[in-house]
Amino acid sequence: MSLMKSFYIYTFGCRVNQAESERLSEELVKLGLALQEKRPDIFVINSCAVTHKAVAEVKKMVNFVKRNYPDTYLVLTGCSANYWLKLQKDPVLKKLDLVVPNSDKEYLAKILKKRFNLAKQNRQTSYSLPVDKYTSSFRLLIKIQDGCHRFCTFCIVPYLRGLPQSRRISEIVKGIKENESWAKEAILTAINTEAFGKDTGEKFTDLIKQVLKKTSIKRISFGSIHPWSLNKEFVSLYQDLKDSDRFVHYFHIPLQSGSNKILNLMKREYKAEEVFERINHLYKLNPYIFFGTDVIVGFLEEEDSDFEKTYEFLEKSPFVKFHVFRFSIRSHTAAYYLAKRLKKVDEKTKKRRAEALHKLSKRKMLAFFEKLKGKVFPALFLSKKEDGAHHATLINQVPVIVPTEEDFTGRILDVKIEGVKKGRLVGKVLNSKFQAPSTK
Ligand code: SF4
Repeated sequence: MSLMKSFYIYTFGCRVNQAESERLSEELVKLGLALQEKRPDIFVINSCAVTHKAVAEVKKMVNFVKRNYPDTYLVLTGCSANYWLKLQKDPVLKKLDLVVPNSDKEYLAKILKKRFNLAKQNRQTSYSLPVDKYTSSFRLLIKIQDGCHRFCTFCIVPYLRGLPQSRRISEIVKGIKENESWAKEAILTAINTEAFGKDTGEKFTDLIKQVLKKTSIKRISFGSIHPWSLNKEFVSLYQDLKDSDRFVHYFHIPLQSGSNKILNLMKREYKAEEVFERINHLYKLNPYIFFGTDVIVGFLEEEDSDFEKTYEFLEKSPFVKFHVFRFSIRSHTAAYYLAKRLKKVDEKTKKRRAEALHKLSKRKMLAFFEKLKGKVFPALFLSKKEDGAHHATLINQVPVIVPTEEDFTGRILDVKIEGVKKGRLVGKVLNSKFQAPSTK
């Protein structure tokens, strides 16, 4: 039996993957393994397969590890594992020592423990958390749900992650409480927040209420909140939370298109005006919410007039930050088959449309930043920069730079926004207690 002392996890893709890797990391450290980037005994690739490019990058990583660490035990898990096991067989699988599909990912630490008899090898009584970009910024990524039932025509995720499975609220609360000694913010991540609780009979709004009530975590936030989750119940809950300094006022709502024709072809099953109405409602409750979205340009049959609708929607709506994706056909999705009979958009047009949205987002961001000037918000201080400036995130998740000689790492303090420098907010720490900015 080989003696295993160290591990490394390389994570591709979404925040759910990040959350899963963090949990696995913690479990492996508890089993006595040390985190080691170079030549670890065990190398886990937690992969993505959302695009062909993502799959190609995973393959590159497999080859990199084989070439550079020939003695390392190489494990593949995540969506590429499912893709190669279930949809598209690939010879790369032969290069791996262990392939764990998404359905068994949560047992990966147990599988390794058994295989290498880790409990006996490296017994230890205390451990410290591995440091990564989330733990070093005092943020705990916590998975609340996996899988999706929506089958949007462009998306391969439901085929790779399966139907929705939610974690119980009590389990999520427990997971947060266990990390309260170091975590200031719990980022609740899901593949589709709408599906939370569909399989357990629990409610998304109850999850928020219970986390706020039963934990003393300083802040909670979400990776994304999906358009279908913005129902009347959610909007009414936000009415009570609009002035909260524990609920992060940041909403990343993947819209994808502002044209109902395109939304219909994507099988999103909402209308642009419904989302517009809901987010405007939230915005009226708190005009300092930071709204972000994902948009796909150049989907099948997207004419200039459809794109104009998206542009106009984004211009008029409170959305400020857009992640713009140029549509590319993904095999094994419904869009792959639709593309055989529907009109495709050429690459030049996609590029032009994407650039127009990038410009609009930049303009809206600056206008939003201007609105924050002179206001005071609680900010979580992340890390101290060498040039004497601190990075912090406001209660609406907007990053701010605070020039100071003092070390406020890990603290939540009131910051007054003083201006915008090189496209970034600059602020100063106030001694006075936080006062929510007036929303009138
Ligand atoms: S909601 Fe649509 S885009 Fe999101 S994971 Fe489910 S199928 Fe994919």
